[in-house]
Parts: sequence; C-alpha cells; structure tokens
Amino acid sequence: MVADPDSAGVDAGRAEAQGYAADWARAVRRLGFVPLSVAETERLLLAQTIRLAQVVRAEPFSAHPAEEVGRALVQAHLTEPQALAWTLHALGADFPRRVLAAADRPADLADRIAAVQGGLAAGFARALRDRTFSQQERITRSAWKARDEVEQALRDSEARFRAIFTGAAIGIGIAGVDGRIIDVNQAFADMLGYSIEELREANVAALFHADDAAGMWELYQALIEGEHDAVRVEKRYHRKDGTMVWTDLAVSLIRHGDGRPRFTVAMIKDITQRYALQQRLRFQALHDPLTGLPNRTLFFETLGQVLDTAAAGHRVGVCFLDLDGFKAINDSLGHDLGDQLLVKIGQRLAACVAGHGHLVARMGGDEFVILLDGGDDIDDAVAVAEAALAAVAAPVHVGEHQLAVSASVGIVQCSAEETTASELMKAADTTLYWAKGAGRGRWAVYDPERSARDIARSALVAGLPAALDRGEFVLHYQPIVSLLEGRMLAVEALVRWEHPELGLIGPDRFIGLAEETGLIVRLGEWVLRRACHDAEQWRREFPDARLVVSVNLAARQADDPAIVDTVADALHTTGLPADLLQLELTESAVMGSAGEPLRSLYRLAALGVRLAVDDFGTGYSNLAYLRRLPIHSLKLAGPFVEGIRADGTDVAADHRDERIVDALVRLAHALELWVTAEAVETGVQAERLRALRCDTGQGRYFGAPAPAEAITARLRGGVAA
Ligand code: C2E
Ligand code: MG
Ligand code: MG
Repeated sequence: MVADPDSAGVDAGRAEAQGYAADWARAVRRLGFVPLSVAETERLLLAQTIRLAQVVRAEPFSAHPAEEVGRALVQAHLTEPQALAWTLHALGADFPRRVLAAADRPADLADRIAAVQGGLAAGFARALRDRTFSQQERITRSAWKARDEVEQALRDSEARFRAIFTGAAIGIGIAGVDGRIIDVNQAFADMLGYSIEELREANVAALFHADDAAGMWELYQALIEGEHDAVRVEKRYHRKDGTMVWTDLAVSLIRHGDGRPRFTVAMIKDITQRYALQQRLRFQALHDPLTGLPNRTLFFETLGQVLDTAAAGHRVGVCFLDLDGFKAINDSLGHDLGDQLLVKIGQRLAACVAGHGHLVARMGGDEFVILLDGGDDIDDAVAVAEAALAAVAAPVHVGEHQLAVSASVGIVQCSAEETTASELMKAADTTLYWAKGAGRGRWAVYDPERSARDIARSALVAGLPAALDRGEFVLHYQPIVSLLEGRMLAVEALVRWEHPELGLIGPDRFIGLAEETGLIVRLGEWVLRRACHDAEQWRREFPDARLVVSVNLAARQADDPAIVDTVADALHTTGLPADLLQLELTESAVMGSAGEPLRSLYRLAALGVRLAVDDFGTGYSNLAYLRRLPIHSLKLAGPFVEGIRADGTDVAADHRDERIVDALVRLAHALELWVTAEAVETGVQAERLRALRCDTGQGRYFGAPAPAEAITARLRGGVAA
C-alpha cells in the first residue's frame, strides 16, 4: 500500500484514475461553487480517487478510511449537496469498472462499494457538522467578546458619571417628568439642607419658592413639551430650615430613544451670596444714600415702565417738589444740619404718600418727586401735593434748631399715551418754576397754553441779540401836548421790534425779557442814541419848537453806573442840548436795587437832562423822597386817567380817581414838578385834566405813537392837538 497518490497511480492504473478524477472534477465544478482552480480540483480528486481504490481493494476491508475522503471534500469546501450526490452515485455506478482492474475487484465488491459510499457520506456529514460547530463557536466567541467590551464601556461611563455625580460641588438632581425626584447628589441635598434619602421620592414642586411656583411649572412644562431642551434661570428655593437659597438652575431634558421625555436633570449652584451682593449693589445704584429714598435712576426706570405698560386712557402724574430757600438754610446752618433736614423731609414725604402706592424719589439736592400711577382726577394729584406741602410745613427739629420750611410743587397729570418721561418731567419742572414765581410755599398745575407762551417768550429772548445786530428795532414817537395851549412840547420815544416773521412787536412783549437777560443795557443805549439823533434833527429843522425827547430808562439801565457817561456821550455825539432830553424812570427804578434813591440821578440832573417819574402812582415809593430828588416831572399812570370817564356814564359815582388826580397834581405842584397825564383818550378826559391843572397830556387823543416822519410832518404843519 502506498500512500503517495502518484506512486499509487502507477500501481492502480494512473491513466484510468485520472480520467475518473477529471470527470469528477468537471461534475463538482458544474454543480456548485468551487474555490479551487481546475488543476487544483483535479489533483485533489485524483488523490481521493486513488485513496478510494485502495480502500475498496484493501485486505482486510474497512470502510473507515473512506470517511477521510468525505472529510477532505468538506475541507476543500466542495460541500454542494448535488456534488455529494454525484460523487456517491458515480462511486456505485462507474467507479469499479473504470478505476479497478478486473484483477483487483474483490468478490464482495458491491458490498464494499456500498460500505465505502456510507463511510464517505458519514465523513462528509461529520466534517460538515464539525465545521459548522467551529464557525458557530467563533461567532459566539467574538459575540461574547464584544458584549464584554460594551459592558465594560458602560461600567466605565457609569463609574465616571457616579464619580462626577457624587463628587461634584454643584448640586445635581434627576427627576421624572412628573417632578418626582429619582436621585440627588450630596451637594444638592446639602444646598437645600435635606438628606439624600429625604429628597428621593419627594416632588420638586415641594421645593419651589411660593412666589415662583407657577413660573417654575411653566418652565418645566415648556421643557417637557419639548419647547426647549434646556433652561437656565436664577431661582430661589426653600431650605429645610425655612431659609431661602438663591440658585443658578440649569435643567436639561433626557429623552427616550423615540424622543419621549424621560428625565429632567437639574444642576444647581448656590448663588445666595452673589445674589445678595447684587441686590445690595442694585439697591445702592437705585437709592439715594442720604435719605434711602429711590433715586433719580429708579424714578425714571419706574416712570418708563409705567408709561410703557399703560393701558389706553391710563393717566399718570407727578408732583415735583423743591424746598424753598434750602440754600440759605444750608449756608447758615452748615451741610450736616442741611442733610439732617433733607432726611426728615424725605421721611415725612414717604410717610404721607405711603399706603397710596405712590413712589417718592429724591431727584437730587432739595428736589423730591412723587409719582402718581393712575387716578383720573387732577384733584387727586392736588390732594397729594397739598399733603406733601403740609408734611414739609410742620416745624422740623434739627440739632438745636426748630426750622420752618416750605416747598413749592409743580403738578402735571396727563394720559400716559400722550407723553414721554422726559416731556413729563420737563413740564413738571416748568410748573415748579411757576409755583416758585407765584410766591413759593404753593403748588401750581401744568397749563399747556401757558407753557406754549413761555416757550414763545424764550424763543423771543433767544432772538433778541441778533435782532439788535440786524437793526430790527425802530422807534415810534408819541406827542406830549400842553393841556393849556395844545402845543406839542415833547415826544416820548417808544421802541418796537420789526420781527421778520411776527411783524411789529410792542415793547411789553420784549422789554421785560431784555431786562431779565441784561440785553436792555445795549438796547437802551441804542434807543437813547437814536432818540437824541432824531431830536437833534428836529431841533435843527425846527429850532423854535424846542421839542423835548423823552426816553424810558429801565431799572437795570438806571442802576448801571455807566449810564451817566452813556447819556453824556449820546448828547455829545448827537449835539442835542441836555435840556431837550428827558429820562423816564419808574418809581422802583428811582429807588434802585439798594432801596435808596439812585446816586446817578444827581449826576444825570447835573448834566442838565430832565428826569420824570413814569407811571406815577403804581409803585410804592416814599413820597417824602420826591422832595429831595432832582426830579422835574411826574407822569400820572394810565389807570387814574382811565377813571376820569366823564363820557356821560358816570361810572365812579364818587369821582374817587378825579380826587386822587387832584391831590397828586397839588402835591406835585407843591414840589414844583410838572404833571403829565398818560393815556388820554378822549376830549372830555383832556378837558377834565386841564381843569385839574395837569400840565401836559399824552395819549391817543393827542396822537398815537408813530414813526419819526409823522412828528416831522406835524412840526412842519404846525399841527396842534
Ligand atoms: P410807558 O413809558 O408808560 O409808555 C406809554 C405807553 O402807553 C406806550 O405803550 C403807549 O403806546 C401807550 N399809550 C399811548 N396812548 C395811549 C392811550 O391813549 N391809551 C392807553 N391805554 N395807552 C396809550 P407802549 O409803546 O406799548 O410801551 C409800553 C411800555 O414799554 C412803556 O410804557 C415803557 O415802560 C416801555 N418802553 C417802551 N419803549 C421803551 C424803551 O425804549 N426803553 C424802555 N426801557 N422801556 C420802554
Ligand atoms: Mg414812559
Ligand atoms: Mg408811562
């Protein structure tokens, strides 16, 4: 027996075996996939053919080695069932005839072939089973290995999570979507003052601060409904001991694989201290350190909110209060006592509006403001202002002093939709100014029309200097006529403003403003020089008329020490003789700001100019002074003349004005003063005044104020009254 197929082939008839093996190879290749080349298949099957031939011939016979052939086929992956069927069939049919020489065929050949077929099939089946087993085992082994790895990874991540969860300084809590707490870490429990066990199974809702509870559920709801996957808020919680903890809370939602919400994970950080600090800083930023009242910033913040959120028709008001004469108190008693006073006033104001829900703020210095949110009636605002004034007015004890303090209040109330914070406060400021102007210790209510007039007034003020530079002012002259002869003895120079937009403006609308701003000095000087110039023209043209020009001097002008030089210079430059110039001063201007007659009067009189007291009878001057002053004439104020209305209807039955004029004229004449009656409008008035021995008259009856040419024409025409 030779194991080598090649040497066996020699023995068993190699050519026959090769032919059989070639057919066998062709059959297996036709019937299924063979992972070998043709030559390799033939070589393998030739070896198996020779081995089968040896098994059949062997003495003693055993079918067992045929199993190796079946096993070899499986090992070579020739496992197609149809190929096996071909192999077994060919073994029974062709094999003995083609491969075994007649001499080699044993007697029990058929039995042997059947046994070999069985052996081959058994080997084939066993090998196949072994291979499947080993494949399965390999798969199982790698599956187990993979599972181990996954589990290890999970264990690692769980360990890492646990380490973070337990060791974190931040509080971490896991809750179900119903709010039931599943687990919390130590930091979470410590922050809220509970044990971990107490918190497990509790509901997060039990921890919410009462004031936040509703908002917190909404937040949770939004999270669970998937509106957000995470939220972050600053929230307070109750600790077990009842105290409060402020937290920075971040909640995120963990979902099931299919997207349904599964848990919420909350991380909280204790920010109580930071919060307290923030609150303290915020309080400091929004309150006045002295009085503790809300400050200007908080006031405007609150006002802004009220205006922004106001419903249609909602009204809002402010009482803007300023202490009267606080500067004097501060200066005389010192700042410490001044501060104490402010503190007390602040407390009183807060107390008097407390309970009405009004905000009291200190705006700075001695200014306080009360914000009235709502209330339709201006009377409500006035009631608040009166309460505030009463609170201020009660005597205040500071140090050893008992002080009587008063304040002024500007009240504004309007519809929230129609105003802005700055408009409202501007109106309140204007109104406060009115209350001060009306005499202090009182309130005033905002009046839009008055404010419009004020604004127009200030626009005029602003335009004054440029108007003077542009030469927009002109002089009109009004005759002053002798009541005895009817001759024009003088003219009064009256200034007008030819405003490019507003037309001709009378002095009542701008002289006061010019006085307030000080521009009167420049304007007055212009009037003086212009009037002297015109008067000199008339003197040259009509020397016999000896026409006097009468120029008004404002108090501020008369009070200016330079006035004497100005007048002297005006006379000098124009050439007008001093006795043809008259200066009119009101009683208060005569007395000057120091309460004594002006020193300049004597120096002006020394220049040779005439001095008249204008609007005599309207002031409160001490008549005794008149005797000692270098005054030449009195101009009786219009209202006395107006009372002399003997025009048929005898209004003043007792002729009181006539009797006053009579007395004044007698007094003036006793002091050797001329008397001019102003505002003479009728012939009857002129006649009465003449009868009362008034010297001259001025008014529409004798001629209205008119441009210089009208006076020239009158002088030329010799027109009398
Ligand atoms: P005043 O000095 O008492 O001037 C007389 C005012 O009476 C003038 O008003 C004049 O137009 C007005 N008047 C004239 N006839 C009548 C009349 O028949 N009835 C009535 N009721 N009034 C009459 P005007 O021109 O508006 O001046 C008003 C005031 O303005 C003057 O009062 C004077 O105080 C001031 N003023 C006018 N020009 C100047 C000026 O150049 N400098 C200064 N400082 N004040 C001036
Ligand atoms: Mg006058
Ligand atoms: Mg007058």
